[in-house]
Amino acid sequence: MPFCRECGSKLFYDRNSKEYVCRSCGLTYTFQDLVVESEKMFENKLKKDEKKKAREEYLDWWLSKKK
Ligand SMILES: [Zn+2]
Repeated sequence: MPFCRECGSKLFYDRNSKEYVCRSCGLTYTFQDLVVESEKMFENKLKKDEKKKAREEYLDWWLSKKK
């Protein structure tokens, strides 16, 4: 079940409008909106992992230099 970007509540699928509706704040999302959003989140996570890796590599390099 997808969650609302604004308030984090569960979204409900409205068969009539073919949209996901947040019952807490009233926002609606199309399926496309949700797909795009989850892709963005996935990309952000990848970027974060890359940054973390780069930092660790730098630390390794720095520590080996100190010896
Ligand atoms: Zn909401």
